[in-house]
Amino acid sequence: MVESRAAAVQELRARFAAGQTRPAEWRAAQLRGGLRMATEMEAEICDALHADLGKPKTEAHVHELSLIKSSCLFALKNLKKWMKPQKVPAKLMNFPSTARITPEPLGLVLVISAWNYPLLLSLDPVIGAIAAGNAVALKPSEGAPAMSSLLAELLPRFVDGTCIKVIEGGVKETTALLNQKWDKIFYTGNSRVGRVVMTAAAKHLTPAVLELGGKCPVVVDSNVDLHIAAKRIAAGKWGCNNGQACIAPDFIITTQAFAPKLLESLKKVLEKFYGKDPLLSADLSRVVNASHFGRLKGLMDEEMVSDKIVFGGQRDEQQLKIAPTIFLDVPLDSAIMKEEIFGPLLPILTVDKIHESFGLINSMAKPLAAYLFTRDSELQNQFEGAISAGGMLFNDTSIHVITTRPRLEHEFYRELK
Ligand code: NAD
Repeated sequence: MVESRAAAVQELRARFAAGQTRPAEWRAAQLRGGLRMATEMEAEICDALHADLGKPKTEAHVHELSLIKSSCLFALKNLKKWMKPQKVPAKLMNFPSTARITPEPLGLVLVISAWNYPLLLSLDPVIGAIAAGNAVALKPSEGAPAMSSLLAELLPRFVDGTCIKVIEGGVKETTALLNQKWDKIFYTGNSRVGRVVMTAAAKHLTPAVLELGGKCPVVVDSNVDLHIAAKRIAAGKWGCNNGQACIAPDFIITTQAFAPKLLESLKKVLEKFYGKDPLLSADLSRVVNASHFGRLKGLMDEEMVSDKIVFGGQRDEQQLKIAPTIFLDVPLDSAIMKEEIFGPLLPILTVDKIHESFGLINSMAKPLAAYLFTRDSELQNQFEGAISAGGMLFNDTSIHVITTRPRLEHEFYRELK
C-alpha cells in the first residue's frame, strides 16, 4: 500500500515532467470532465452526502454541486486569460529588451480535504490546481467515507487519472503522503493538523494553503428587522450542515434588553423551519460521527452551561442527531466559548451596550467571519473599523461564500456540449 502510494506520486511527477498537464487543451478537457461528473452523477453525489452527513438534497445542490459547477465554468472561461504572459514595462537600463511575466504550473499539488463539505472542499482546490496546469493528488477525508470512495471511483472515469489521482485514507496514509515532496499543499481542516501539515511542508520549503476554522461571532443590534435577522441567523447556522460549517455563526452577542426578543424570534423561526420535533426533520443534517457527537454532548453537558439551555437540547445518540440548541449567558471560560463549536449549539452572550461586543470579539482569536445585524450605518462603519475577520457581512450570515462566484448558468449548457 505504502509502495503503491509512492508509485502514484512518482507517476504524477513523471507525467508533470513530461509536460502532460501544461497544454490549455488538457486543462480544459479536465475542467469539462469535472463539470460533466458534477452534472451526470448528481444523484450518486447526493446519495453519498446523505450517507455521510444526512445532508438534505437542497443543501447538497446549493452548497456543493452548484459551487463545483460554477468553479469549473469560471476556470474554463478564464483559462486562456490566466495562462497568457503579461507584458511589463522594461526599464531604460534594459533597453532594448522587453519583459514579461509568464504564469507557470508549480508541479505536484497535494489536496487534503475535510469531511463537512466533502465534495466542495475536495474538488474546488483540485479545479484551481488543474486550471494552473498542475498534477494533483487528492486525499479526501476519511470522515466522509461514502464521498471519499465515490470520488475515488468517479474521478478516473471523468478526468485523466494518470495526472489527477485520488488517494484515500486516514491519518496514517496522510502522514505518508506528507512525507513526500510536493510543490504545493492545500489543506482544509482543524488548526492542530494544520500545524502538522505546515511542519511537513516546511521540510521541503513547499508553499502551503491552510483553510482552518474559528469562532464566528454574530452581533445583533436592537435596530434591526428582527424576523429577517432571526431567519438569516438560523439559515446560516442550522441550514448549513446543522452548524458543521467553518463560517457558521458560532455565538451571538446582543444587549441584555434585546436578548429576550431575539430569542423569541429565533424560537419561532426554528419551529417553522424544523417543526416541533427537529430530530425528525429531513431538512437538518446529522452530526458526522460518534466522536463529534460525543464532543458536542460534552459541550452541552458541561456543568457551568448545562442549565443555560433556553431552547432545544434534544438529542438522539443512535441517529447522531442534535436539535438546534440555544444557550443564554454562558460563562466565557466554558468549553463552548473556548473552542469552535462546529455543530448545532448556539450560545447568546449579552452586554449592556452593543459597542461592548467589539472588545469581546477582539479579546478572542481572529474570526473566519464576523456578522453584524443593524440598520445603523454608523455602527456598521465602526464594526468594520474595529473588527478584523476573514470575511464580514452586514444583515446576513454565511452567504458571502458565493459572492465571489460568478453567475455562469448561461454558459453551462454550451460547455456541456
Ligand atoms: P477532518 O477530520 O476531515 O481532517 C481534515 C484532514 O486532515 C483529513 O483529510 C484527515 O485525513 C487529515 N488528518 C487528520 N489528522 C491528521 C494527522 N494527524 N496528520 C495528517 N493528516 C491528518 O476534518 P476536521 O479537521 O474535523 O475539519 C473541521 C475543521 O475544518 C473545522 O475547524 C472547520 O472550521 C475547518 N474548515 C475550514 C474550512 C475553510 O474553508 N476555512 C472549510 C471547512 C472546514
